[in-house]
Amino acid sequence: MTRIGFLGLGNMGAPMAANLVRAGHEVIAFDLSPAARAQAGAAGAALAESAVAAVAGAEVVITMLPNGAIVLDVYREVLPAARPGTLFVDCSTVDVADAKRAAELAVAAGHRAVDAPVSGGVAGATAGTLTFMAGGTDDDVAAAWPLLEVMGGKIVHCGGSGVGQAAKICNNMLLGISMIGLSEAIVLGEQLGLSHDKFFDVVSTASGQSWALTSYCPVPGPVPASPANKDYAPGFATALMAKDLGLAANALAANHIDGQVGALAAQVYERFNRTGAGLDFSAIITDIRERSGR
Ligand code: NAD
Repeated sequence: MTRIGFLGLGNMGAPMAANLVRAGHEVIAFDLSPAARAQAGAAGAALAESAVAAVAGAEVVITMLPNGAIVLDVYREVLPAARPGTLFVDCSTVDVADAKRAAELAVAAGHRAVDAPVSGGVAGATAGTLTFMAGGTDDDVAAAWPLLEVMGGKIVHCGGSGVGQAAKICNNMLLGISMIGLSEAIVLGEQLGLSHDKFFDVVSTASGQSWALTSYCPVPGPVPASPANKDYAPGFATALMAKDLGLAANALAANHIDGQVGALAAQVYERFNRTGAGLDFSAIITDIRERSGR
């Protein structure tokens, strides 16, 4: 049994913490939101009155927070209160530079740090089947591994500090680009008289095939479980895709990569996010139709 301080009990953090409780770990949880705290309490976590109280005495601290600025603020607040050598595992999606900075702060305060962002969404968090992309030293990632296994179905040690976040934003940049490209192709096909079924039949086994098409088709019908069949209820919300593409665009610029399509994808989703934030990101196809006057 490990004594875990868990900070951030939102859509993802709450079910992740619940799985740790279920596996027999002692979870001391804190969130700014009283409703989120109450939900974690109902799942069996012990509740702390502050972030500092949640980490004092913990062997491992897991954070699942909205963004890098908040992660850094929380680290600055709690690092001095943790006992020496505490393992900090940040599962939030944050800028690569923020992830490295958070790890530096933790190490400078005498602790250990791993970045371990996830994919798999709320469904994966609930089922304990998340994919973790871990960055950190071999020893630190190995120390986090048994807890990640409780919350996840697949863990990849991607490299040193921040490289887990790199894997996350590279994957999501590619996903955003491929969803936009796929949606443009489907709308073009519609205009040219190509039905969705025939489009799927051809492209799903041709060179234009992608996960976006075969597992997450943005039109109803060919993939019955895709959000398009439920009026684009997320799934993976446009707000989160816009956030991740913004992180990818920042990383492209900071590293002087000529990533024109990645940067454009970030702009496309930033604009769609003004009206479609709560819709699944595959609803971008509706925006393309609308902007095309269809
Ligand atoms: P969320 O907004 O539902 O939860 C975040 C929680 O953090 C909230 O309950 C909020 O009250 C709490 N919080 C904010 N500041 C705090 C502080 N200073 N101290 C303690 N608690 C604080 O977000 P989410 O959907 O659970 O996502 C969390 C992270 O996981 C984000 O970085 C997101 O990008 C990433 N992520 C989300 C998904 C998804 O499908 N939701 C998938 C993969 C990754």
